[in-house]
Amino acid sequence: MQLLKKGWTLVAIAEVLSSLNDKELEQQILAIKDGEKSENDQQLSLFPLQQNKNNLTLAEDAVILLAQGILGQYDRVLMGRKIVRQDDKLPSELYSAMCKIGRLYLEEGKCDRAACVHDVLERSRFSLNTYKKWDLNIFRDSEFRFGNVQLIYSDLRVPTVDCADIANLSGGFGEDQVIEYKLYQSIKIATESLGRKKQHKAYTAIRELLGRRWLIRERELLDYLEEKDLTPRQETVLEFFNSVPEIWLINNCANRCYHCGTLMRPHHNRDRYPQGYCPIHQCNSKYPPQVGEKLNPEDGRLLVAKPQILAYWTAPAIDELAIFDEATNNDLDAELYPESDLCDVAIGDRNLDSSFKSGDPPNGLSRNIGIDAKSYRSPVLLALKLNRSIGGLIHYKKRIVAITDELIEDCPGYFSTLRSLLDEKKETKGLQIMSVSSVIENIEEGYYAS
Ligand SMILES: [Zn+2]
Repeated sequence: MQLLKKGWTLVAIAEVLSSLNDKELEQQILAIKDGEKSENDQQLSLFPLQQNKNNLTLAEDAVILLAQGILGQYDRVLMGRKIVRQDDKLPSELYSAMCKIGRLYLEEGKCDRAACVHDVLERSRFSLNTYKKWDLNIFRDSEFRFGNVQLIYSDLRVPTVDCADIANLSGGFGEDQVIEYKLYQSIKIATESLGRKKQHKAYTAIRELLGRRWLIRERELLDYLEEKDLTPRQETVLEFFNSVPEIWLINNCANRCYHCGTLMRPHHNRDRYPQGYCPIHQCNSKYPPQVGEKLNPEDGRLLVAKPQILAYWTAPAIDELAIFDEATNNDLDAELYPESDLCDVAIGDRNLDSSFKSGDPPNGLSRNIGIDAKSYRSPVLLALKLNRSIGGLIHYKKRIVAITDELIEDCPGYFSTLRSLLDEKKETKGLQIMSVSSVIENIEEGYYAS
């Protein structure tokens, strides 16, 4: 009655009450009784709180569905249905997400800004807490876990690593839907028939190629494959590349980024960026655009890694290769992507390989140091992922998770949030979490020398 007097509708009351458990319901009734006695409005103060909690749940559900919908839509675009159309072909998750986000706008007394799929996808290139884009208070609420999540890479226009992880949170979305897993499987299948020892070498050679030489002349690529005994796998490797399209040429040349080596893209503001800009966030957030080399396509066909390769392998490889190169320069026995990706960089104990089969080291034997570089924007998602599994790091005595430096600079609470969310169980307990630059410093100072 109190609520009806306050102008609540019966539907709204039913919705709030049905979402409370017995204990919360009891507290609400007691609060109202107290309120009747004191005849003030405090009895209703818990309802807005409850409403906020409901909206937080609604917001998280909406974002999980949006992430799934984005991956689903991306898959369809990849399969050749190039145009995003707002019709019954839209992934059902994307449609549900738009309805839920629409409701969030209405709850905040705003117009529904989630009715157009193009707008929602465009906005997904910005973090959810970017108010001037999303215009939703709930996305900036301190209790909302996905605030700093960006679902689509703004320049590469493919779903982010965070998007793939959020899509998986509900457990109802298969691993095989996730881009990185698909890419990984394609190399695994291509290299498996080579025999165990050669297989791992081939895996590393292909990943290293995609990490270092993602803008390459076709001739050089074929030479690399020959040098690494990979000519029989040429077809698979070529699948990872596209020809450099003419629209990306600047003054008839492909411009290679001075800092990271990838293909620079023409900028819509030609006066300001006459030589284009670098599409890799890890690079363009650190350095101003600068051309390292101008490649003329008339001197031979130019290939560039596909956007999903750039997003999932090439960009993270900036950190992975920096650690690996530092270790090698310091004469450490380092290996890149050992055993077809047990971790990113392993240091020491390589000679155990011969006694090592199918993922489990023999009792008492464990490799020395395993390092995984991680570039999750959201420490919450990284914690959830590590709590699920620390992956191949389990096989190493010392297990290091190295976080991209810029992410820590952007989010000062990154380490504390991550650490506070990690399970106290054995697997995550011994993880050493530090910045990439700290790992590199430790290598320089000889901490990892055996
Ligand atoms: Zn770059």
